[in-house]
Amino acid sequence: MYLDHFIAQNYRNLTMVDTHFDKNVNIFIGKNAQGKTNLLESIYFLALTRSHRTSSDRELIAFDKDYTNIMGQVHKHGREFDLRVLISKKGKKVWINRVEQSKLSKYVGQLNAILFSPEDLELIKGAPSLRRKFMDQEFGQINSEYLYFASKYRQVLQQKNNYLKQLARGQAKDQIFLDVLSDQLAGIAAEIIFRRVQFLNYLNDQAQEAYEHISLASEKLTIRYRPSVSEIKPSDSVEEIYQKLQLAFKNNKAAEIKKATTLLGPHRDDIAFFLNGKDAHLYASQGQQRSIALSIKLAEIKLVHHVTKEYPLLLLDDVMSELDHGRQSALLNYIHGKTQTFITTTDLEGISWEIIKQPKIYHLE
Ligand code: ATP
Ligand code: MG
Repeated sequence: MYLDHFIAQNYRNLTMVDTHFDKNVNIFIGKNAQGKTNLLESIYFLALTRSHRTSSDRELIAFDKDYTNIMGQVHKHGREFDLRVLISKKGKKVWINRVEQSKLSKYVGQLNAILFSPEDLELIKGAPSLRRKFMDQEFGQINSEYLYFASKYRQVLQQKNNYLKQLARGQAKDQIFLDVLSDQLAGIAAEIIFRRVQFLNYLNDQAQEAYEHISLASEKLTIRYRPSVSEIKPSDSVEEIYQKLQLAFKNNKAAEIKKATTLLGPHRDDIAFFLNGKDAHLYASQGQQRSIALSIKLAEIKLVHHVTKEYPLLLLDDVMSELDHGRQSALLNYIHGKTQTFITTTDLEGISWEIIKQPKIYHLE
């Protein structure tokens, strides 16, 4: 798939962008604070209706304006269609072929994009919440059911937590209603966990291969889902996961009432990375962590292709300068000719030109 005609109005410091992107490689070059990342972010936003940098959509509207409008013409499976996102004071609206969509889950996934940025290292080093966000964002864009269950889960989780608070404060007494909510939550959670395990399994195989390719080392990378309910096994069906969660909620009922919050479930789960069986979060060096992060992103490209039969857009924010020549070549060789790629850089010097042929270059000022 690729993005052809693209328009961004009042997007952060970009007053007006109106261009036709190259099908292969586009390079955004400029000094610091000119809007390179903003332009990349606006493309990402058109695809996912979310920013990778902020959860507040209002931040994306240019300081002195009251709306931002992003439009793009996408070519996919030999067809073309238009996408549009508008953020205003009233919130966010999306269109496919000029038809407004009431559900974001119908919109997300039309255009797929994978973003690489220096902050990806946090995926290994950072808090578990970042890895959950990663799963929700990335699996949501290739599986609309995942997106649906994730949003449903947030709703019911909040409802259950509110009720636990009422029970803890003595404002409610009926524990049967708590059981009903727990049961409902277990059903949705099982759907989410099942998909996370499946997708991570695929990512594990692909990332292992990519890691070998880019790290030029003999360590073996392993990626595993780390559920908060430890009884869950990778081979479990949705039904089996559901039953295990039901039991876990039952066993933890008193503790959940005492703490007035839901202690188990997808919102407490994590991803574990191992190098030769050792936890990478604790033991991997900076360089190894960088290679792991890069391997996962490369694996994601394969995952998107595996599920959608199209390669996603690839957005590389400042990553070239962070990679040594060997890794840069490995990355560019890996993706070359398959994905429409957008690269930001302050400096053309840092790029392996022998692999990128005839890019379209944008100077941002
Ligand atoms: P660097 O090379 O340092 O990464 P960059 O070109 O990627 O720079 P951006 O992150 O795109 O820079 O930011 C460009 C400018 O956009 C910044 O000066 C920032 O203050 C400005 N900016 C951010 N949000 C808004 C907004 N809502 N309205 C107007 N300007 C904004
Ligand atoms: Mg930037």
